[in-house]
Amino acid sequence: MSPLPCIALIAHDLKKDEMADFARQHQVALGRYRIVATGTTGGRVLDACPGLDVTRLKSGPLGGDQQIGAMIATGEVGMLIFFIDPLSALPHDVDVKALTRLATVYDIPMALNRATAEKFIDFQ
Ligand code: PGA
Repeated sequence: MSPLPCIALIAHDLKKDEMADFARQHQVALGRYRIVATGTTGGRVLDACPGLDVTRLKSGPLGGDQQIGAMIATGEVGMLIFFIDPLSALPHDVDVKALTRLATVYDIPMALNRATAEKFIDFQ
């Protein structure tokens, strides 16, 4: 049986409460994975679920999205849960686009909203 992929978690500012709630609700399922997250998102997930194995990278606008993109390219990250905020302008919009592009290039499962993330977790 192949090991479970490392999951990357990211949530834009107005979606961070939703990510913390998602993590709390699926703490047991997420506990089976190694998790990487952008800085602030990772902090919120750890506050909600202190027992999870979360490695915090840089904050998204400071390069965290790009770090996760690089980890997808090297095969270290095999699944992306990214709660995007489609209603706010973001200084790092190009990074968001680059990350979702790489997730598509490498054909990894990618959930850009909670409804899809819930399906992912159900299938794992
Ligand atoms: P953050 O980054 O978790 O550090 O806020 C997320 C983002 O905005 O890309």
